[in-house]
Amino acid sequence: MNMNCDLSLAANYRSASQQARVLSEGWFLKNVYCLACDADSLKQTSANTRATDFVCPKCSHRYELKAFQRRPHRSLVDGAFASMMQRVTSGTAPTLCLLERTEEWRIHSLTAIHSSFLIPEVVEKRPPLGPTARRAPFPGNREAGARMGTAICKLS
Ligand SMILES: [Zn+2]
Repeated sequence: MNMNCDLSLAANYRSASQQARVLSEGWFLKNVYCLACDADSLKQTSANTRATDFVCPKCSHRYELKAFQRRPHRSLVDGAFASMMQRVTSGTAPTLCLLERTEEWRIHSLTAIHSSFLIPEVVEKRPPLGPTARRAPFPGNREAGARMGTAICKLS
């Protein structure tokens, strides 16, 4: 297993968040297999698939990838509260994969939290931020997050 991300994947991206996304997704796609069946590779979903970055072509198990330089150990901010709760209660939450990497994009650890552990009791609601908040509640859907509150998944 190659523990270094392929830095050439990020050459055409300027923003740090886009570079982080293509580097972590590129490594994940090359190195990770399905944890729910014996499939030895996963398929990347289209860019706008909500909360699912990869899916198993054999058993359809879903994966959401989060990359960090220091992965959170106690809780994880994960999108809008209402949609997170909807996924959790309908049984469509993905397995969360927390990828920890160095500044030089060497993989330090990969922790998978199986979707069956994502139950309503571990999802907390962070109150919506006020209109004067300087920080966006989460990237991607600023308005929805500000309106509905943000989901915090307890990890320990
Ligand atoms: Zn599978």
